[in-house]
Amino acid sequence: LAVLLIGYDVECMTPGSDTTKKFLDAALAVHSQHQAPCSLFVVGKTLEFNTDALKSAAESGIFDIQSHTYSHVLLKTVCQFDGHKTTVFRAGSPQRIKREVTLGLQVIRLVLGVEPIGLTTPFGYYRGLSDRPDLLRFLYKNGIRFVRSYARNEYDWQPVELNVQPFTYAPQGFPAMLEIPVHGWQDCLWRQEHGWSDAGGFEDYQVSLLEEAAEKDLVLSLAYHDWSAIREDPAMGIIDALLSRARELGVRIMSYSEYYNERMRVLNQSNSVV
Ligand SMILES: [Zn+2]
Repeated sequence: LAVLLIGYDVECMTPGSDTTKKFLDAALAVHSQHQAPCSLFVVGKTLEFNTDALKSAAESGIFDIQSHTYSHVLLKTVCQFDGHKTTVFRAGSPQRIKREVTLGLQVIRLVLGVEPIGLTTPFGYYRGLSDRPDLLRFLYKNGIRFVRSYARNEYDWQPVELNVQPFTYAPQGFPAMLEIPVHGWQDCLWRQEHGWSDAGGFEDYQVSLLEEAAEKDLVLSLAYHDWSAIREDPAMGIIDALLSRARELGVRIMSYSEYYNERMRVLNQSNSVV
């Protein structure tokens, strides 16, 4: 059966901004209406600026809370070729990356009292962290059991095809660690390319991905952001349409940690049979 995973990067770091709060209100309304769980990948600094709003979000029972580092430092350098030009976004130093990850997790533990097991890496990378067993080891030691780090294609650009399905990092030595890639075009990149006013066009595109996943019984994993999800779509009509269509098609809607836990149960069962 096909699965729909929706994860929001909660990352607006402008002091005094009400963007994150507005997003949380809209997301709570639309996800509650469909009884559709989802995940929030929270930047530590954003949490420090929006403590009350994120506390009530965490208590709502609709959101699974995970990490998106402390201040959005890249774990790998991105060499993005968008068809016209190459842009390089540099990774943080090894020391900075370690601090970013541990501090990001610590703020969530302290403020929200939850233990994150998932991390969305800023920007996302081609092949995720497959080529960085050193980073995988560090994340694993810090309690991370799934990452959304495979969010770009071989040009470090978009889209990521649906045939890139979740996989474990067993070949790197971490069989209990799952990569859950991000599919298609991320909302901000598609909408930047096609124009923010074309919310309907982006909705059609998201629904077409969902229909493809339903037809092929695949996992569809989508990334949105607090600032982009409500931009020129304040009530989150795109998500509303997507969730309605998912229910019509009988696609299961899960949070990322639910998906991780289920996937590990199935893996453990099949191992014990062998
Ligand atoms: Zn981000």
